[in-house]
Amino acid sequence: MKESEFLGKLYSWHDSIERYLPWKENADGYQVWVSEIILQQTRVEQGTPYYLRFMQKWPTVSALAAASEDEILKMWEGLGYYSRARNMHAAAKQIVAIHNGQFPKNYEEILALKGIGPYTAAAISSFAFGGKHAVMDGNVMRVIARIYGIDSPIDKPAGRKAIQKEIDRLIDEKNPGRFNQAMMDFGALACKSANPFCQTCNFNDVCIAFKANLVSQLPVKAGKITKKTRYFHYLWLQRGDEIAIKRREKGDIWEGLYELPLIENQNSSLQIEEVIQFFKKINSAVSDQYIINHSSKLDRHVLTHLYLEATIYKIEGNFELFTNNTPYFFVPIENLDNFAFPKLLLRFLTANGHINR
Ligand code: SF4
Repeated sequence: MKESEFLGKLYSWHDSIERYLPWKENADGYQVWVSEIILQQTRVEQGTPYYLRFMQKWPTVSALAAASEDEILKMWEGLGYYSRARNMHAAAKQIVAIHNGQFPKNYEEILALKGIGPYTAAAISSFAFGGKHAVMDGNVMRVIARIYGIDSPIDKPAGRKAIQKEIDRLIDEKNPGRFNQAMMDFGALACKSANPFCQTCNFNDVCIAFKANLVSQLPVKAGKITKKTRYFHYLWLQRGDEIAIKRREKGDIWEGLYELPLIENQNSSLQIEEVIQFFKKINSAVSDQYIINHSSKLDRHVLTHLYLEATIYKIEGNFELFTNNTPYFFVPIENLDNFAFPKLLLRFLTANGHINR
């Protein structure tokens, strides 16, 4: 299939579904960047309000660079992958320091920013500056693998190279941004991983996967990630109208977010002896008398490499000295909304009326 035929089929489909996206209105590099990072986390419908709030609060790179990490994590709350928000903050500071607060136009300079890989650099470069760099996300790779019948695993260098070769040939040199957007949308909305719209597809007369009945087998993936399970036991420690929380530290998931006091063990249940050990570890002056008077098992939470099984236990006991020399502190329950919590806890706090959403 010639490049012009491919583009004709792609654009006639895209023209029929074009949807309004606020960051496409005279988008500059900063706006495209923020939208791309948000959309790596969520669908357009859920990501749009985040994008609009971001732009309202931090309309420029310099404003974002000057924000505190707590403010950014709070804004990001619920999107997951909080390292992406921290990387955005670091990249904004880089842009202020190296590029005078102006988002760089050059692909290599964009790629050098913290947290930006080839995919995001290609998207920003093509959407905001007309750079001829093809976006290679999972959707785009699926489309090319099916139309051209590429059966090398797309998660291995040889498969990626074969797809890159095709897409470099096909990219619309006059309008690479339009091409990238149309390819991403086509993969996300039409040539979907499950139940693609083959019967009405513009490509079904040339698509090798469709003609050879291989749609469900392409693209090929070599390895699936095996996930392990972690067991989180959160303690709901209430003192009058206050509860204890702490900020998560470096070196683990959810760095910088807040959570309830946590005991992690290797199984889904918690023994009272483990609670006593926990209190002894953080403050040996407290009493040995604790009672678990209620527990709520949360829905299983899924991260890329991990399943999280979490339970919240209401504990009664003497924890008056609890905050001495520990990372824990008490906050009024009515002020919990001032802190950024991981989605797992946010759902619990919202469902129980402690945070209003
Ligand atoms: S015919 Fe089916 S598999 Fe082929 S490009 Fe269209 S939607 Fe994708």
